[in-house]
Amino acid sequence: TLKGKTAVVTGSNSGIGLGIVKALVEAGADVVLNSFTDRDEDHALAEEIGKAHGVKARYIAADMSKGDDCRALVTKAGSCDILVNNAGIQHVAPIDEFPVDKWNMILAINLSSAFHTTAVALPMMRKAGWGRIVNIASAHGLTASPFKSAYIAAKHGIVGLSKTTALETAGQSITCNAICPGYVLTPLVEAQIPDQMKTHNMGRDEVIKKVMLDRQPSREFATVEQIGGTTVFLCSESAAQITGTTISVDGGWTAM
Ligand code: NAD
Repeated sequence: TLKGKTAVVTGSNSGIGLGIVKALVEAGADVVLNSFTDRDEDHALAEEIGKAHGVKARYIAADMSKGDDCRALVTKAGSCDILVNNAGIQHVAPIDEFPVDKWNMILAINLSSAFHTTAVALPMMRKAGWGRIVNIASAHGLTASPFKSAYIAAKHGIVGLSKTTALETAGQSITCNAICPGYVLTPLVEAQIPDQMKTHNMGRDEVIKKVMLDRQPSREFATVEQIGGTTVFLCSESAAQITGTTISVDGGWTAM
């Protein structure tokens, strides 16, 4: 059980981040939800989750494209036993046409944010004598596809950052690992479907099976619940000696 532990999950008002929050509160953790928006519905979501599970749940707005915001998020959380770096965005274009601002934004949100949050969280974890850092990478942290240069560079980068964090915390009851999901049906993936339908001149179902899940031998999307469950496992005592590595949840993608 994670009772009494506080988890900070970046980019958690939708998709995989929200799935991870739900799994962590089911395991008894208090949680801090985050995104860059500061709407009533964001705070209401946290309140609802807290009430339903009898845990403390707060929403703290912070823009993960800005280093100072990343650091302030963990400072404002007050304690951070579990840090899940999940916020991420995607842009698809050939390298020679890739917009520079998109490149910079993807590197900032998908990679540098984890450096900033980790830098503030580590002293807190060392003081508490326990910590877990789970970085949400991707099958694209281990393999590549064309037209996703920034995303793939950032995801390979976060796998490297996870290894370094593990070495700097070894023997301190702190672990750091990266989860590498294949395709999970979330708003981020949903948003890619219309483009892919146009590019390949296919219907929705055909593009899902033949194009999107072409690399995923199971031909099934992974679920946010499965990513949540993997995160809770990495926070458990069974995983105390698992550090500096990756866990793929990708239906066999990276076995090919
Ligand atoms: P999503 O778009 O549903 O969620 C992304 C989350 O990040 C949202 O909560 C969004 O509000 C937040 N976010 C975006 N920009 C932010 C910013 N500047 N500051 C703070 N928060 C911000 O996408 P998702 O599919 O749930 O993706 C979550 C993570 O999982 C990402 O890192 C993504 O790369 C990774 N991932 C997703 C898949 C997939 O198939 N969905 C596969 C592998 C890895």
